[in-house]
Amino acid sequence: MNDNSKIWSNILSKIKLELASFSYETWFNDTELYELKNGVAKIIVPYAMHKDHLKNNYYDLIKSKFIEEVGDNVELEFLIEEEIEHNIEDDLLKIQDGEANNNINIYDNDSSFNFESHLNKNYTFDNFVVGNSNKFAQMSALAVAENPGAIYNPLFIYGNSGLGKTHLMHAIGNYIENNSRKKVLYITSETFCNDFIDMTKKDNNKSDFDNIAYFKKKYRGIDVLIVDDIQFLAKRTESQKEFFHTFQNLYEDEKQIIISSDRSPNDLKLLEDRLRTRFGWGLSVNIYPPDFELKLEILKRKIKGEYIKKDVPNNVLEYVASNAGTDIRSLEGSLTRLLAYSTMMGRDIDLNLAIEALKDYLNLGYSDDTDVSKIQKIVADYFKISIDDLKSKKRNSSIAFPRQIAMYLCRKHTDESFPKIGIEFGGKDHSTVMHSCEKIEQEMKKNKTLADEIDKLEKEIHN
Ligand code: ADP
Ligand code: MG
Repeated sequence: MNDNSKIWSNILSKIKLELASFSYETWFNDTELYELKNGVAKIIVPYAMHKDHLKNNYYDLIKSKFIEEVGDNVELEFLIEEEIEHNIEDDLLKIQDGEANNNINIYDNDSSFNFESHLNKNYTFDNFVVGNSNKFAQMSALAVAENPGAIYNPLFIYGNSGLGKTHLMHAIGNYIENNSRKKVLYITSETFCNDFIDMTKKDNNKSDFDNIAYFKKKYRGIDVLIVDDIQFLAKRTESQKEFFHTFQNLYEDEKQIIISSDRSPNDLKLLEDRLRTRFGWGLSVNIYPPDFELKLEILKRKIKGEYIKKDVPNNVLEYVASNAGTDIRSLEGSLTRLLAYSTMMGRDIDLNLAIEALKDYLNLGYSDDTDVSKIQKIVADYFKISIDDLKSKKRNSSIAFPRQIAMYLCRKHTDESFPKIGIEFGGKDHSTVMHSCEKIEQEMKKNKTLADEIDKLEKEIHN
């Protein structure tokens, strides 16, 4: 271990003691002390998002640990890997003062209004398992939870059903409730529509004013609004109008808004333009289907949960993880079914029992033989390295260069986006992928041998 990695690992072990494990893992895993020179510590972080977040939330903590460790005052600079490679010197990051204040709500002393957050306490960051496919979404969610209203507003989380959007939204809400006095409200967009309809309905026992006052209090007197499955607002013109005003009101007051949907803001065709535009004002993050490793990890965590007393052998977990469908809800369904079947039959769980129990349930024959994995295999074979190397963080050029070529080929020969390709290469930031593609394109113009090699690889891809 060289000096820098020793210093950094000492600092990290101290920081680890002071933070919740999900915070530590999200913000400090895969960080590295690149250089400590002239009173400046350059720290490599995995994603661009880490730079702002560490600077705004953890600067003092890290700095104090440096002082304990090396005895000197240091300034911190956070960089992603490309910036080191490019030698781009960011301005020295300055400490930002002004911690997010916890607003005390103006409706606090209104006892007539019974406030309910509708949060599910079982969905937390603690039990949200992080893998390459959901890392960016989880990180954005935690950034918002640690700093509501301040940075990414609105936070828009989108992806197919069963991938963890609702879980993440509750996790944000629970975190904020537990760490501040902010008022959080979780609703689905259907609840919003129903409340809106109730407000406009005539009710003989109540004056119109009561209904409107109730609605306004429920939706305007909060600090954090979480709206799940916004796609159901499509076509409901009047509710959309009201939602627009609610959104605008909260947004102007710098209240945090978090929205989920099964598709991206741009693809929400049936929403008013002005809503769609606003959804894009903050940060939109895509949550992708889990890979095998994440599925396996989730299964392991679930059976560790106290309520499952049965012993489930590893080969059974692997069988379930590799054959379950593409979402986490169905993965959980497989496990529940397997446990129930074993109880019903009075038999221990082994591979035979699993095959029997799940034969009509699992998505057999599903394979993750995607275009990206095909390209990865061709490139890895060609350069005589392993696919794991391609997905690793290794930076020596015998691996980094083939990795850049593989990323370039994936971008050129598949429909996958930069972020998705990043995920397929072990969870790299999209800027890493973009940088690789540009670099290979430039090199090819200057270097005939490289152009020929790529030509050969392309022929194989189209074979
Ligand atoms: P969505 O809202 O995207 O349809 P949910 O949040 O309802 O999906 O997730 C479906 C189920 O899968 C929930 O029981 C949730 O707790 C679980 N789940 C999803 N992602 C994870 C994860 N990363 N770790 C642990 N459980 C997860
Ligand atoms: Mg959901």
